[in-house]
Amino acid sequence: MKTIAVLTSGGDAPGMNAAVRAVVRTACENGIKVYGVIRGYNGLINGDFIEMDLRSVSDIINRGGTILYTARCAEFATEEGMRRAVRTCQEWGIEGVVVIGGDGSFRGARDLSERGIPCVGIPGTIDNDIACCDYTIGYDTCLNTIMELVDRIRDTTESHDRCSVIEVMGRRAGYLALNSGIACGATAILIPEVPFDIEKHVIERMKKTQRADKKHFIILCAEGVGVDVKALAAEIEAKTGVESRATILGHTQRGGYPTAKDRIMATRMGNYAVKLLMQDIGNRVVAAQKEEVLDYDIFEALNMKKNIDMNLYNVAHEVSI
Ligand code: ADP
Repeated sequence: MKTIAVLTSGGDAPGMNAAVRAVVRTACENGIKVYGVIRGYNGLINGDFIEMDLRSVSDIINRGGTILYTARCAEFATEEGMRRAVRTCQEWGIEGVVVIGGDGSFRGARDLSERGIPCVGIPGTIDNDIACCDYTIGYDTCLNTIMELVDRIRDTTESHDRCSVIEVMGRRAGYLALNSGIACGATAILIPEVPFDIEKHVIERMKKTQRADKKHFIILCAEGVGVDVKALAAEIEAKTGVESRATILGHTQRGGYPTAKDRIMATRMGNYAVKLLMQDIGNRVVAAQKEEVLDYDIFEALNMKKNIDMNLYNVAHEVSI
């Protein structure tokens, strides 16, 4: 391949910039022209490209967000939108595309590959909800950000003998809630993968720990469980007598300097993706498993299912008494 493009799509994640940098530098180092696509699939449809060079990705390895901007693009998911994107790629001589995003973005990459533009997906999403990967770019930073924020809430919760009900991100996946719950010693963790009953899993657990002299409590809820954290805090206060407060961490979880792990894995994955395209291999997803970087067929990757580790879930609750 002589010319490729790189885009970021869907929700932004810290470490996306490190992946863009690795794609651009690997391409340049191997004599491949590389375009940065602005605002995901919107840019691919409209030819909103910037030719990247070695210095265009200087000083971004440490920055959250994405210098290429990101967007959701409903038009791209239509036959006409897809056709326009293919036509734009052909006009610009783009022979392969690196798509950094979540599984929605990978569906777009699969469709584009099927229409003759080979794509390689790199998993960039804070939720860690890509089935073929046990790690996604941005997840580690987000998890550490949540831990730091909950630690701050914990100081005041402890000082007042209160209960804090905290909502964290994770619309369909509870990895952030589960692992931050373990890291922060939450008394109860509610995640979309495990059915729960507020009375049994929150109120009774709190009462049990109260009997063991516990006086302050952290309850972690993944966004995807659909619990109104304010209402839950009021219910807890009424049923346990513990003054309770609700906090939604919201977008504070998304930004910030990527951790070493996110920078290193993003760099390895970006480099790996270009190496695949250099061998004319498309329709693949770069994956991380047990610190190893490997790749899967996109179709196969999208059909895989990811289960929450119930052993981890049980450990979390066994030690939070
Ligand atoms: P994420 O990649 O983080 O999962 P989205 O689900 O919002 O984020 O997907 C990002 C973009 O990928 C969408 O705006 C759309 O342009 C494209 N996309 C999503 N689903 C499909 C699909 N089934 N077919 C083609 N393109 C899709």
